[in-house]
Amino acid sequence: MRIFTASLATETNTFSPMYTDLDSFYQCFYAPPGQHPATPTLCSAPLVACRELSATDSSIEVIEGSCAWAEPGGLLNRQSYEHLRDEILTQLRAALPVQAVVLGLHGAMVAQGYDDCEGDLLSRVRQIAGDKVVIAATLDPHSHLTAQRLNNANLLIAFKEFPHLDFMQRARELVTLSVATVRGQYQPVMRSFDCRMIDVLPTSREPMRSFIDKLSLLEGQNDILSISVIHGFMAGDVAEMGTQLLVISNNQPQRAAELAEQLGMELFSFRGKTLPAFATIDTALDDATMIAGPVVLADVWDNPGGGVAGDGTLILAEIIRRGISKVAVGTIWDPMAVKLCFAAGEGASIILRFGGKSCATAGDPIDAQVTVQRLQRNAVQYFAGSEVPMGDCAVISFAGIDVILNSNRCQSFDPSLFTALQLEPQQYQLLLVKSTNHFYQGFAPLAAKIIYVDAGAPYPSDPVRNGYRKLRRPLWPIVESPFA
Ligand SMILES: [Zn+2]
Repeated sequence: MRIFTASLATETNTFSPMYTDLDSFYQCFYAPPGQHPATPTLCSAPLVACRELSATDSSIEVIEGSCAWAEPGGLLNRQSYEHLRDEILTQLRAALPVQAVVLGLHGAMVAQGYDDCEGDLLSRVRQIAGDKVVIAATLDPHSHLTAQRLNNANLLIAFKEFPHLDFMQRARELVTLSVATVRGQYQPVMRSFDCRMIDVLPTSREPMRSFIDKLSLLEGQNDILSISVIHGFMAGDVAEMGTQLLVISNNQPQRAAELAEQLGMELFSFRGKTLPAFATIDTALDDATMIAGPVVLADVWDNPGGGVAGDGTLILAEIIRRGISKVAVGTIWDPMAVKLCFAAGEGASIILRFGGKSCATAGDPIDAQVTVQRLQRNAVQYFAGSEVPMGDCAVISFAGIDVILNSNRCQSFDPSLFTALQLEPQQYQLLLVKSTNHFYQGFAPLAAKIIYVDAGAPYPSDPVRNGYRKLRRPLWPIVESPFA
């Protein structure tokens, strides 16, 4: 059995000014055939799962294509998308004949002229590979589920967890199901249900925790092969944006459709109840200074993982104004300031302007007399075993505040982002991180308290006000009763 595998993924915030091009992929993660490291990345895990399986089953031959991932950002330019897509399609043509194509996708990639990049890619893969080949892909739940994707793939599986700690597990499932399908053990049929809502659905807390556990228990019974929740991605202005429930059955289309609707309506009943209470900047700082630290403040709407810059200063400016010390900030994206710090050298005391440069809403640049505390080329943090490059980084210190400036945009996944720069997270009263929920598992063990802070910008976090132009159907909360 010959399996072709590749990965092309990013998450496009169509409201973001951080446009995405080939360099965004090359800088973040790019592995040509045979060059993928042993460790998986979030979206390239199927390749690693294919390698694992072929190592234990000599009847399986894996043909590797390219894998590319760019940090979430704004619209991908057309030429860059077509270049990466055609690279993979050319590799696929050269690999024929194959019995399965297993892809690591994200599902919220939007390029100029392509509102549904993954649908476009899957339909071209189908044209090249033919009707008999099993086409399978992993998806991030923060994606759009389109008819074009369902029509051209046999198996689509989204990560169940948010934080997405289960990406390797889902990739293994996908590869196992693909192989079983090629061997004739299953005839997968996918059915989806449109929940007509968009919300943020962390699974680290109720009601989503129990819901996801229930889905896992339903799998493997009554010919149900897989159940995925597509949370949707509210920062993508495309026609099919929104939450969907996806069920794959073994040749039981009606059962799959009924289960998708039943679970989808249960999910609809959770709307508006899934997020923890977000604090304002003022209440967060009041609370955070009342108890012994470290208190973790999550700047939920300046999360580069959602495609914004990650150079916002709204919370830090208030920390400075209040004179709070023993603070570590991880991170503020500012490659220009990093360059200046490298030029000044470790130990230098300089006047530096940093942060607040990418957009009008996320705060002003901060001007301070700082000490360049530490410089680190190619710093790396870790997320569930995968390496996340932070690029060249500088730690600057002033008024009891240590700020990590990074040159690769990335969200704050894990305390390793501080230790990579030799900052000891336990020694601070406040740790300010930029993440919506991926930080949670990593930071919970060391945090005296975790506070989610709603600074109001720059992520388009309010669907009612986002002004979608391409959305085609009623969705809660834009419409109160979308099924009426
Ligand atoms: Zn996601």
